[in-house]
Amino acid sequence: MNEISGQRHSAERGPDAIALKDVSFGYDPENPVLQGISLRIPQGQWVALVGESGSGKSTLVKLLNALLPKSAGEIAVCGEVLSEASIPSIRRKIGMVFQNPDNQFVGETVEEDMLFGLEGLCLSREEMDRRLQLYSGKLGVSGLLSKHPGELSGGQKQRVAIASILAMEPGVVMFDEASSMLDEESRNGLLGILRDMHAEGYTILMITHDADEIMAAQRVLALSGGGLAGDMTPAELFRSPELMEACRLRAPYA
Ligand code: ADP
Ligand code: MG
Repeated sequence: MNEISGQRHSAERGPDAIALKDVSFGYDPENPVLQGISLRIPQGQWVALVGESGSGKSTLVKLLNALLPKSAGEIAVCGEVLSEASIPSIRRKIGMVFQNPDNQFVGETVEEDMLFGLEGLCLSREEMDRRLQLYSGKLGVSGLLSKHPGELSGGQKQRVAIASILAMEPGVVMFDEASSMLDEESRNGLLGILRDMHAEGYTILMITHDADEIMAAQRVLALSGGGLAGDMTPAELFRSPELMEACRLRAPYA
């Protein structure tokens, strides 16, 4: 049994956080973007998803969150198979942070933004306040709750986006190139946040081209030509010039 697939421990850990069985998808039937993808990500694993631009990384995470029409094959999140009926339940288990923090800001203030995601969860006012304080504190934005998005830096907005997602307490969080618009300090801050989340048991799926972010993950999945071209550790990826080239990645510290 392959250690990296995490299957060895899955019996003790419960269902895989993410499981894809023979998943295929195309925006039009003539041009499949993903073809026959099968993979399993156990709960608590930190995975980097890499691949050259246009290889289907964003498409894959959007399928997981049911942001696209149904794909062929089967997708399951924490043991629940994705279907029309299970979409609301699956969206509560899986949070998504996008590349551009401006596009995910839905409130007039940071507080409104954080509360927006909580409103559909049928929580008491006390529980909403508890989460607001807890997650704004964790992400270092509790001093910004009354601020308008226009008053925030890019790094602050991205931290608010993450705080809003974490406040919903999903078990799985996906990041789609979430650090590509951040400066170096904010990028390092994001890595620190991810390390804390990993220590707390979150499952993390992170689309990235950044060598430091890839190195920080436990496992790398590489997409190429519509399929899974690699499933390995970060060190193995950086030892494979062919895969690095196929994914248009630069070696760390180069
Ligand atoms: P990546 O995130 O790896 O850069 P994407 O998943 O965004 O790749 O895109 C994969 C392929 O699907 C690309 O060829 C892209 O042009 C195409 N594509 C992405 N979004 C759409 C869309 N909304 N409509 C049609 N084609 C799309
Ligand atoms: Mg993308």
